[in-house]
Amino acid sequence: LKTGLRAALKKIVNSSAVDESLIKELSKDIQRALLQSDVNVKLVFQITKNLEERSLKETPPPGLSRKDHIVKILYDELAKLLGTEEQYVFQPGKVNKVLMLGIQGSGKTTVTSKLAKLLTRQGYRVAVIGADTYRPGALTQLKTMCEKTNVEVYGEEGNKDSPEIVKNGLKHFEGQSFDIILIDTAGRHKEEKDLLDEMTRIGKVADPDLALLIIDGTIGQQCYNQAEAFHKTVPVGGIIITKLDSSAKGGGALAAAAATGAQIMYIGTGERIDDLEKFSPTRFVGRMLGMGDIQALLDMAKRLETEGNEDRLKRISHGKMNMEDFYFQIEEATKAGGLRNILENMPGFSGMVKEDQVEQQEQRMEKWRYIIQSMTKDEKSDPDLINASRVKRIARGSGWPEHEVKELLKAYKNSKTMMKASKGRQMQGMLRKMGLG
Ligand code: GDP
Ligand code: MG
Repeated sequence: LKTGLRAALKKIVNSSAVDESLIKELSKDIQRALLQSDVNVKLVFQITKNLEERSLKETPPPGLSRKDHIVKILYDELAKLLGTEEQYVFQPGKVNKVLMLGIQGSGKTTVTSKLAKLLTRQGYRVAVIGADTYRPGALTQLKTMCEKTNVEVYGEEGNKDSPEIVKNGLKHFEGQSFDIILIDTAGRHKEEKDLLDEMTRIGKVADPDLALLIIDGTIGQQCYNQAEAFHKTVPVGGIIITKLDSSAKGGGALAAAAATGAQIMYIGTGERIDDLEKFSPTRFVGRMLGMGDIQALLDMAKRLETEGNEDRLKRISHGKMNMEDFYFQIEEATKAGGLRNILENMPGFSGMVKEDQVEQQEQRMEKWRYIIQSMTKDEKSDPDLINASRVKRIARGSGWPEHEVKELLKAYKNSKTMMKASKGRQMQGMLRKMGLG
């Protein structure tokens, strides 16, 4: 897929003009790539149909080239299926009952203990009910994993009646002012009838506020049927995709989301208790497209869409960038993990980006912010004014030594020269950095 979509996007980026036949061609390439990535056929055609229509009809916002606009439309269409960045909010002042659904081995028990820890950390009072009466040792597994976080697990060894265990568990925790009760359930090898019947019965007893469907991110196409079958037993309110630490692209997640209309809330990225991440559609689409996080591109696109930045971009592209523009540019690249992702997508850098490099850049930004704030309005719009005595004053005002002020001025000058040379093709530059150009 990686090569497929990248090649397709590369074609767009490298082409001299965007016309109907090129868009059709791109659409075909994307269809092929998405199908390979386990995205459901119907969805694929819906996505590319919208892509074609919008690419031909819509005018790119000022400052955004036709090509960049098409990349953004593609992203929009994929993201539409995956929902927003918004987080589910548990209802305050009551017990939120959360029911785990999914086939055996999807990662329910692991996710239950991961969530128990995460939510406890967020300040919720969490309890767990273990209602897997099918798998030997299920309760022990759950208790062992939850022990470390001091989360109480209710279970009944020897009782095979899982709805009854759920009922007793809820009773046991009643009046103990818990905010969230997580209910782990049994699975089978696939969505067999007796499993679905059991879930229906548990659903009736538990009357959950939220049913979470746990899906193995490596299973691909079966996602749709699985999600649909479970959704019929208890309406699914959220999805968790596990095992995304593997090479799986997770395209099936789109299908699960489409089958249930539910939001993907978290992703599992490993076997350890802390390997649970908040789901981000942008990161996920990037993963499917094989281009890492496209947040930087999207942020740029968004900025470009907003009026007022037009002047800024004109200045930048004409080599007339001032100090504030400079700061804006760097902030843009650093934001939302942008820097890390850009680096990770550079050939040869993948997996080599260290946390401290990102931190270093963030610290530098912080420092520069103070320094720039200590400049006068005139100095900001024309940094050439800044002579030795001004450097001294700025250093004093910002609380940083003079050489730091000089370093900032040097970086600004370098960047200005570079921008002048590239004549405002920073978007293409961005795409190139992400391995698309
Ligand atoms: P359940 O049958 O649905 O309760 O699934 P389990 O929680 O027992 O998980 C099944 C297997 O998948 C276990 O070996 C887990 O360690 C593993 N597993 C669960 N989530 C992840 C994940 O995000 N990444 C990886 N690599 N393994 C996982
Ligand atoms: Mg289990």
